[in-house]
Amino acid sequence: MSTLNPFAIAQQQLDEAAKRLGLDAATHELLRWPMREYHFTLPVKMDNGVTRIFKGYRVQYNNARGPTKGGIRWHPEETIDTVRALAAWMTWKTAVVDIPLGGGKGGIVCNPKEMSNGEKERLARSYIRAVGRELGVHRDVPAPDVYTTPQIMAWMMDEYETIMGHSHPAVITGKPLPVGGSQGRGDATARGGVYIVREAAKAMNINVKNSSYAIQGFGNAGQFAATLHPEILGGGRLLAATDSRGGVFNRDGLDPNALVKHKLESGALTGFPGAKPISNDEILELECDVLYPAALEGVITAKNAGNIKAKIMCELANGPTTPEADKILFEKGVYVLPDFLANAGGVTVSYFEQVQNTYNYYWSLADVHQQLDRKMTDAYKSVYEMSKKTKVHNRLNAYMVAVARVAEACKIRGWV
Ligand code: NAD
Repeated sequence: MSTLNPFAIAQQQLDEAAKRLGLDAATHELLRWPMREYHFTLPVKMDNGVTRIFKGYRVQYNNARGPTKGGIRWHPEETIDTVRALAAWMTWKTAVVDIPLGGGKGGIVCNPKEMSNGEKERLARSYIRAVGRELGVHRDVPAPDVYTTPQIMAWMMDEYETIMGHSHPAVITGKPLPVGGSQGRGDATARGGVYIVREAAKAMNINVKNSSYAIQGFGNAGQFAATLHPEILGGGRLLAATDSRGGVFNRDGLDPNALVKHKLESGALTGFPGAKPISNDEILELECDVLYPAALEGVITAKNAGNIKAKIMCELANGPTTPEADKILFEKGVYVLPDFLANAGGVTVSYFEQVQNTYNYYWSLADVHQQLDRKMTDAYKSVYEMSKKTKVHNRLNAYMVAVARVAEACKIRGWV
């Protein structure tokens, strides 16, 4: 993994896209920085009666295409540069799926694993008291992220409504269903990824009904990908899956529903009947049609990229591939669906939640799936069209689509 700070990486990625797009100097410079950011000092009464002071951030990176949108992370090692980088990536993610939003991100430096529910609630409310006046459906809409949950979103919404004095569910997404959440949020990330795998497979003439696939990381995104791949593609053979404790493999295929049940009941994949063990490194090099990295960042590097045999790699995880590996995979002909396109289903359904809250009418699950399919398929097609013109690796193609859209909005507004 690179030793550069995440915001420096985000800026470098933008620089490459800006150069290829021939962006003028002012637009390029504008897009290299957050338009606005807030730093907060948050006092919270802990259960033992002592007041602790937490640091919090909210970065509104760019709102040329609409109100900023992005999660709030609670993490002991949170830094402003991580939040800036993630806010930049949200800007490109909302642009590549063409939803009328900008990008933002928030964070609190804290360790929620060491906090009681009461302490978490007071911290959530304290954050909203600090940032509330800068939020709103027409300004900035947060959502859950690392270590923040639908319950935390509900407390935040409640605090916001208490301050504002009126109902305002669209101020935050990822809420529980009884207080304005959307159907279909749970599997949206994996579902969006599988929709574009279906499109990529069509373009590559892969027989999807017999497609073989493997999944590294068997949490929320990985488990849903396991069952949705055959459901959406009309068939498929799950060859292998791994989690942090190791994995299982069967060349004839593993039953994805039984494997999810086994993982939920036993807490691990190992020990699944009729399967051989496979390591987290081996699974990446397996011969298969589709590989879904759905665990950690930085797992595909210059060291192992030359050994990847999958035809399509759908990055459900954020940042699984290093920049050096991107070039190797491209030369090798592995078709990469890059993270901010492949896992954009989550933010897309968050946007649908905002839309439903705003007109106070709620969609059926089938409506959510249909709209998500349309958004993801259109996004895939935009990147595919770009790839035909540029002949560069797909992450850069996706960047070019997204950055061009944000740059155009900045220009039309007369900012540059
Ligand atoms: P999760 O915590 O539910 O699951 C992560 C899984 O990875 C777990 O099964 C864990 O055992 C496994 N894992 C951890 N270390 C591993 C290792 N060394 N090798 C193999 N597996 C390992 O998380 P998630 O929500 O499924 O997110 C997974 C990835 O997808 C993350 O990169 C996340 O940022 C990204 N993502 C998720 C969503 C979402 O809506 N869930 C949205 C966008 C991006």
